[in-house]
Amino acid sequence: MPLPGPKAAALVKRDSAYVSPSYTRDYPFVMARGEGAVVEDVDGNVFLDCAAGIAVTSTGHAHPEVVRAITEQAQKFLHMSGTDFYYEPQVRLAEEMAAMVPVGGGTGQVRSFFSNSGTEANEAAIKLARYHTKRFNIIAFLGSFHGRTLGSLAATSSKYVQRRGFGPMMPGVYHAPYANCYRCPLGLKSESCAAECLSFVEDQILVHLVSPDEVAAVLVEPIQGEGGYVVPPAQFLQRLRELTSQHGMLMIVDEVQSGMGRTGRMFASEHFGLDADIVTIAKGVASGMPLGVTASRADVMTWPPGAHASTFGGNPVSAAAALATIRVLRDGLVRNAEVVGEYLFGSLRALMDKHQIIGDVRGMGLMIGVELVRDRVTKERATIERDRIVQLMFHKGVLILGAGRNAIRFAPSLVLTKDQADTIVKLFDESLTEVTANPRA
Ligand code: PLP
Repeated sequence: MPLPGPKAAALVKRDSAYVSPSYTRDYPFVMARGEGAVVEDVDGNVFLDCAAGIAVTSTGHAHPEVVRAITEQAQKFLHMSGTDFYYEPQVRLAEEMAAMVPVGGGTGQVRSFFSNSGTEANEAAIKLARYHTKRFNIIAFLGSFHGRTLGSLAATSSKYVQRRGFGPMMPGVYHAPYANCYRCPLGLKSESCAAECLSFVEDQILVHLVSPDEVAAVLVEPIQGEGGYVVPPAQFLQRLRELTSQHGMLMIVDEVQSGMGRTGRMFASEHFGLDADIVTIAKGVASGMPLGVTASRADVMTWPPGAHASTFGGNPVSAAAALATIRVLRDGLVRNAEVVGEYLFGSLRALMDKHQIIGDVRGMGLMIGVELVRDRVTKERATIERDRIVQLMFHKGVLILGAGRNAIRFAPSLVLTKDQADTIVKLFDESLTEVTANPRA
């Protein structure tokens, strides 16, 4: 039926009267139910979900094992506050984190602080870095997204609308260019690159603006998410690690979007041989239940009782969902993300021969970005065209989101099959053809 259907339209109307207008809804999808990578709206229309609730439903919608774990825990108790009392799901989850996060050189000497979201995980990381180092400056990267509460917002520099009107920002945050090789900030070619973009940190920020011994931490996404699914060269992250160690700064790796199997490894850091001091995790960790994790080297997380806490953080139902999620991911979904991700990547790359509008296809596992340009040489951004493709895909039955100014992100649940990937690519191909035939329609 034409979208939105009658029930969806009615709900969107009620929403627009009472819900905050700050949300960015690209199209009127009104969810009724979901299973795996398929969702149904309130009018009975069925879609393939290539957005997964912004890279959250790692195990697919309503995975039976996750639902069972949630139900069993909910029947026992919903809340007790891990801040003041103890319960097993939180302890078990901290043990699991210690065994799997790329922190502390594989020693397992890791402690976890639990919250409810990605932004809170980063707030905790920033506070911990300041507390531990007794320094207060933070270096972050242009195009990054770390959240919207006032601490992490100061590090976020994805789109100005996220910051506009909310200043002044928390002081002491310095931004450097991210290693985006498709749009090299220094105009270099990737073949001759030695991560020179880091020279902005070394030769500019740490020379002209702030003394290295006053920098608490560098906060970085191993693959930039909101910024356009940008994969940096391994050297960039590895040299950043060397730089932080050399100056006694902490390295905080934000795995909120790239973690929990999405890239075909449990954490994107593993692709780069990266071992951080603090890793932040949220989104896919509990398949859709709210949970944030700040996992840190045990010798860094030494703050005293009362220094930081959260009433709901690590609540038992979310913790139970996370434990089930980790099990399901390990039992095959991380591998599926690698295999189906490679397949999807190959199919999207193949579309480059047919569609000049595709400037770049990049990504790892099921975290794939396609950047659209009006001209492959000038790389003029095809933003309007990107927005139209997102709309067209919705009307063809695929939920998909943009990333950055002119990229489309392919971030389905990690249960995606090759057949489903084929359908997504076929409809994407059709949408590209339609937009190219009539670019300004
Ligand atoms: N960090 C990254 C890399 C993200 O992609 C996001 C959200 O998109 C966040 C942090 C913030 O997470 P949340 O929206 O759960 O606060």
